[in-house]
Amino acid sequence: MTAFDRFIMVDWSARAAPSPATPAADAIWIAIAGYGDDIVSYHRTRHAATAYLTEVLREECAAGRRCLVGFDFPFGYPKGFARAVTGSDDPFALWGELAARIKDGTDNANDRFDVAEELNGLFDSAGPFWGCPKGRASAGLDSRKSIDYSQFPFAERRRIETVIAKAQPVWKLYTTGSVGSQTLLGIPQLVQLQKEFGADLSVRPFETADTPIVLAEVYPSLIGAEIGAQQEEDEILDAAQVRVLAKAMSYLDPVRLAAMLAEGDLEEGWILGAGHEAELTRAARGEPPLLPPVFKDDCFALPPGIAWTPVSEAQERLRQALHVVAGPQTVPLSHALGRVTAADAVAKASNPGAANAAVDGYGFSSEAIGDGPQLLPLVCGRAVAGQPFKGSVPKGHAISILTGATVPAGVDTVVLQEDCSVEPDAIAFHGPVKPGANRRRAGEDFHAGQTILGAGHVIRPADLALLSAAGLAEISVYRRLKVAILSTGDELVDPGQEPGEGQIFDANRPMLAGLLRAWGHEVLDLGRKPDDEGAIRDALDRGAEVDAILTSGGASAGDEDHISRILSTEGNLSSWRIAIKPGRPLALALWKGKPVFGLPGNPVAAMVCALLFARPALSLMSGAGWTQPMRMKCPAGFSKSKRHGRAEYPRARLGADGRVELFKSEGSGRISGLSWAEGLVELPFEAQEIEEGDLVTFLPYAGFGL
Ligand code: AMP
Ligand code: MG
Repeated sequence: MTAFDRFIMVDWSARAAPSPATPAADAIWIAIAGYGDDIVSYHRTRHAATAYLTEVLREECAAGRRCLVGFDFPFGYPKGFARAVTGSDDPFALWGELAARIKDGTDNANDRFDVAEELNGLFDSAGPFWGCPKGRASAGLDSRKSIDYSQFPFAERRRIETVIAKAQPVWKLYTTGSVGSQTLLGIPQLVQLQKEFGADLSVRPFETADTPIVLAEVYPSLIGAEIGAQQEEDEILDAAQVRVLAKAMSYLDPVRLAAMLAEGDLEEGWILGAGHEAELTRAARGEPPLLPPVFKDDCFALPPGIAWTPVSEAQERLRQALHVVAGPQTVPLSHALGRVTAADAVAKASNPGAANAAVDGYGFSSEAIGDGPQLLPLVCGRAVAGQPFKGSVPKGHAISILTGATVPAGVDTVVLQEDCSVEPDAIAFHGPVKPGANRRRAGEDFHAGQTILGAGHVIRPADLALLSAAGLAEISVYRRLKVAILSTGDELVDPGQEPGEGQIFDANRPMLAGLLRAWGHEVLDLGRKPDDEGAIRDALDRGAEVDAILTSGGASAGDEDHISRILSTEGNLSSWRIAIKPGRPLALALWKGKPVFGLPGNPVAAMVCALLFARPALSLMSGAGWTQPMRMKCPAGFSKSKRHGRAEYPRARLGADGRVELFKSEGSGRISGLSWAEGLVELPFEAQEIEEGDLVTFLPYAGFGL
């Protein structure tokens, strides 16, 4: 489900007459956040308030927006009360009972004390309800509390009211701070909303909050101090309560809000956000959530004494150090290409939705068919895709049917048009025909409710066909990973600039930007910085605002370049000496909590290290999991002897004869070889004598997502 779009908070009231025409305290106040500006409204009666809510919710639903609606009264009673009254633990059974008993006029005139007295009558002794004006008190309803709750099959307080001690029990119907009357008069209005919105509405925590409208119990006093601080000079406290609470809910991280909505007691209900007051308060101030560091400071540390790390071990360490950082969002299918599914995609519709014809031909019941020549009269009309035949085809008759048309009643088999002789009113063909021939069964591809794509899947064009066929208009995906790129080195200029003596063009930044875009990430270009500490630090600070930083150049340990110095003093730099050619140490660091991948400066080495390390690492962070490149075993079109102790990745491509060719020079300065190639050959750590025709492992660029 998507995050909420509107946050509607309601301060309820148990008044027995309409509230004053001039907005006053202790009346119904409703605040809506999520429009940009908050909307606060005042309602004189419960009926007027429910009518207003119904109107707002109808409009929001029609516009496809999701609403969280909070009410400041308990949604349930202490465990055991529902059973004592209705014989069931289902809180909605009690809701139904209250809705049936309570009479609440459009002028707020109501019989809540009578209903409380009736309910008290279900128990031998006085209670559990108490509290009313002195004159209304009777043997069945005391104006003061003189009740021993140990005699009831339920407690005085709900569990949440032991957690939030200042919240009052639901039994108290009158005077300061009581919520009992609000509950008796509120629940019937909630039942009204349930009726109105049906399956579009759910009530937390009794039901799963996966509907367009979700109702929840709220308690503004959870953030009472913050409400007090934000109350405006002439603002009535009730108005400030709902306004600030709605704002707080709207500023909460959607994932955190969803987690809060999942908390609570399935019979008694729960106050949304209880136990998370600090988080709510931050949200009410519009402050971002306080989050623990995503990665541990020492996540890239290697155990001491490691000299050279084999590629596979370095990959495994990287995999252990990292995890998903992107949160989920819902996007329309038109924006889903290349995105990573954040949840299983479940089919809304079956494919086919109904049994249909796989060919153009004639449909009939297979029961009427035997061996040899068959002559079947044709029924009037035909079945066409999108225009189903409404009637049923009698046994022994046939109907003209076109590909994709729903198979009419009475038909289970289709014979190909080409296999028939056709007259206007009859067809003839040779039997036997296999029962069910040329008929696609309903749901034979997939059925509604089936998971058609798992979480962590990168959506390709073929998947768009699948998702569309399954009736999905939108899908939950991880937000795109944003990755910063930075080139460092005094010697660099950009193409188009005039290089000074000894200067070269920055080749890495365009290449890295291209790689990241091909992998579906967003790019933040931090530009090219000279070996200047201040400039590099500023660039890294900007980079730390996104998910990860790729740098190239000057990052090896002991290098005089500033980037390695800055990262080792302030970024917990760990230089991994990886047994790989081409490539030098891979520098890994955390800058303000964000991973920095320090790639070699040499463009060939930078690209190879990006493919082997940065790609799977970023894929993991993006939610798509650690990715392995595609490996193809192909005969070598070269001979070569390679020493033991490091993996080599020469630039290669497949020749017309299907053999792997190497670029003419292995020099790692040869950027032309990188471009000539269509992939890499993986020559493993062990020593190897490769003869022409031996099978070698070819890693096509395409298998790296390029
Ligand atoms: P470094 O890793 O900084 O020692 O650089 C190794 C080699 O790569 C040197 O020859 C650098 O000039 C070169 N180099 C560094 N960064 C780039 C870049 N962005 N584009 C092209 N060459 C680079
Ligand atoms: Mg350098």
